[in-house]
Amino acid sequence: MARGEAVEVWKNADCVCFDFDSTVCMEEGIDVLAEFCGAGEEVSQLTRTAMEGGMKYEESLAARLKLMNPSLKLVQQMLQASPPQPSPHVAELINTLKANGKHVYFVSGGFRQIIEPTAAALGVPRENVFANNLIFDDSEDGNYVGFDTNEPTAYSGGKPKVVSLLMEQHGFKNVVMVGDGATDMEARPPAALFVGFGGVVVREPVKAGADWFVTDFTELIEPLENKMSVEEVVAVFVTVEIKPDRVEDFKAVMAIDVEGSRKEDGCLRFDLLKGEGENVYNFYEMYKNQACMDSHKKTDHYGAWAKFKESGGVVSQSVAKTTGSNVAM
Ligand SMILES: [Mg+2]
Repeated sequence: MARGEAVEVWKNADCVCFDFDSTVCMEEGIDVLAEFCGAGEEVSQLTRTAMEGGMKYEESLAARLKLMNPSLKLVQQMLQASPPQPSPHVAELINTLKANGKHVYFVSGGFRQIIEPTAAALGVPRENVFANNLIFDDSEDGNYVGFDTNEPTAYSGGKPKVVSLLMEQHGFKNVVMVGDGATDMEARPPAALFVGFGGVVVREPVKAGADWFVTDFTELIEPLENKMSVEEVVAVFVTVEIKPDRVEDFKAVMAIDVEGSRKEDGCLRFDLLKGEGENVYNFYEMYKNQACMDSHKKTDHYGAWAKFKESGGVVSQSVAKTTGSNVAM
């Protein structure tokens, strides 16, 4: 996928799923917890063996948890002592996504108990978190019993499964997965785009396989910002009278012009309206700035209209042009 295409998919996303460890936050929660349980070395050894030996995720998760044997009390102490540290600009990115009407989810092979407090602080509700759930007994410390095997993230291939589920349940069409790891990359497809994140750790296969690889979340914020300046906006209101025998041709040409213009990055508004009087029509067009209007006039869809005009289909035309200083927005 070309960079420009990836940026377009990003801008049009309706749902963005973030991996948590080494993406939203700067550490691997399971390693921090293992350290805290005094099983750091054994757990990282097991993680390596599991990866090399192709152990299934659910098996390696069960084995690592067995080594750690984390009580609820211990998890809470860990959250107090070393809470997850959000990556730079992640809060700003999430706010920008939400302001643009995009749904934000966390999809992680880590643990809800560790993720949810950070998610809440970042404005991502519980129901938008997909992660593994530790189960504790009713004793005072809450001893570790196991993990919820109903969570799709407990299994290999869990992330693509969550993306499919979200598409099914919420009708999302353009889901983007953002993450640092190979299991995140697996989510496309069904995700429309995979953004590799290398701000905490750069993994070469992810860097090579990502549709778009970023090391700083500001790179993702920038395309979402509406940099439009109201002062620079230009709009035209065009009134045309069309020859009676050319009205059908006119409508066909304008269908092309309207559709093409609306896809232009610099076009804010393009409408064909029925004017007052027989065979009278209006176009209402608004562009971010004069340069955008100039480039509109170089497009093929504009050319189709220009050709129609040259062919003598227009009886009369008048244009009212306004600039930003008198456009109220
Ligand atoms: Mg990760």
